[in-house]
Amino acid sequence: MIVGVPAETKSDEYRVSMLPVGVEELTRRGHTVVMQAGAGLGSGLFDHDYLKAGAELVATAKEVFDRADLIIKVKEPLEPEWPLIREGQTLFTYFHFAASQTLTEAMIQAGANCLAYETLRDQNGRLSLLTPMSEVAGRMSVQEGAKYLEKPQMGRGILLGGVPGVAPAHITVLGGGIVGANAARIAAGFQADVAILDVSLDRLRYLDDVMPANVNVLFSDRHTIQEQLKRADLVIGAVLIPGAKAPHLVHAEDLRIMKPGSVIIDVAVDQGGCVETSRPTTHKEPTFIVDEVVHYCVTNMPGAVGRTSTFALCNATLPWVLALADKGTEAAVREIEPIRHAANILGGAVTNLAVASTFDLA
Ligand code: NAD
Repeated sequence: MIVGVPAETKSDEYRVSMLPVGVEELTRRGHTVVMQAGAGLGSGLFDHDYLKAGAELVATAKEVFDRADLIIKVKEPLEPEWPLIREGQTLFTYFHFAASQTLTEAMIQAGANCLAYETLRDQNGRLSLLTPMSEVAGRMSVQEGAKYLEKPQMGRGILLGGVPGVAPAHITVLGGGIVGANAARIAAGFQADVAILDVSLDRLRYLDDVMPANVNVLFSDRHTIQEQLKRADLVIGAVLIPGAKAPHLVHAEDLRIMKPGSVIIDVAVDQGGCVETSRPTTHKEPTFIVDEVVHYCVTNMPGAVGRTSTFALCNATLPWVLALADKGTEAAVREIEPIRHAANILGGAVTNLAVASTFDLA
């Protein structure tokens, strides 16, 4: 099969969908990999490494789309890419169709097979191609929080770990899933004083077992959240209710009980945010201030650490890319359940119930 890897075109997107080792694996199995020159540069991966691994380099995305049966990307195709997509061609990437009716209609029109990373459910029922990005965002949230707590960034001027004789920062993590657990572990490593809150008792029991001694595991109710907000130097928003908007756990008036110069990193902003005063920001202008509290609400946090994110994503996608290339789309969808979950549109027909009902296409 001919597998195509175009460069990403979305702004602030530095990831690439395939590592040289992926090219090596595909070519060893007899497939051809056609790659757009320079596609890996944002992640510090050079053309000569891809050439050495066996890729054929071409100058434009058009040549990639013209030749490949299977296109591997990171982000959904943008409008200039739509006319390049051929009927029957398969695209394997993040689509997030429910967020865009125009994208959904364009893919139906193109007659493409759209396999979405975000709905691939592995043998254990996990959304395993979302997990690596939640791990990145969770760990990164503490790094960003540390930065914006610095005085020149308008923060309180607090060092996360304190020093001998001076108390460390207090960090409150709202939500103890993948993002929250990763944030809490890194915060604990900084020797901060950490609290992690969740509503799932099973999850709280698990976190209590695995977290270091400087992480307190607490039930998330309104009273506890308000107590935490009074103490916190850094609040990390990491809740998710699958398929729904994030609940507002921090109300606008709560900011007044927080310390001036404290920082909120609302990772859940891509689902509307769990802080009432959050609004989406970008890496170019990541923060704004409301009632003396610094808000960081970047919707694509992993984009800033493109190299780490590329490796984390490709480690997770490669087994599925190999299965798709080896079997072909039709047989892979028929025989491999996780890939069947990934199918959102097949031959221009919507096959994912959530997408179909969002746009009344059922
Ligand atoms: P997850 O499902 O693993 O965890 C969510 C947790 O929230 C669960 O443990 C759930 O029990 C808990 N929760 C639900 N309601 C709660 C409440 N009222 N109080 C406390 N906890 C509550 O999800 P995740 O992978 O950790 O993702 C969290 C959020 O981060 C999602 O919105 C996801 O889209 C987002 N995210 C954002 C970025 C970014 O770049 N901004 C990157 C990755 C993930």
